[in-house]
Amino acid sequence: MRCEQCRNKIRGRAYTSITGRKLCDRCGTRLQGRTAGAVAGGGIAGARSTGGWFARVKKAMRG
Ligand SMILES: [Zn+2]
Repeated sequence: MRCEQCRNKIRGRAYTSITGRKLCDRCGTRLQGRTAGAVAGGGIAGARSTGGWFARVKKAMRG
């Protein structure tokens, strides 16, 4: 399995982005950080608990 961002072979845990892309841990963490900023800027700045928001977004994306 290869990371869709940097094309490196993924060792250990693969990271799946909210859009379903398979990323290595490094790219995934970076993407998550960027998305978190965008989401917080988009209106849920009050509910900005790092663990919770991602689970909610994932749930929302899958209906
Ligand atoms: Zn990567």
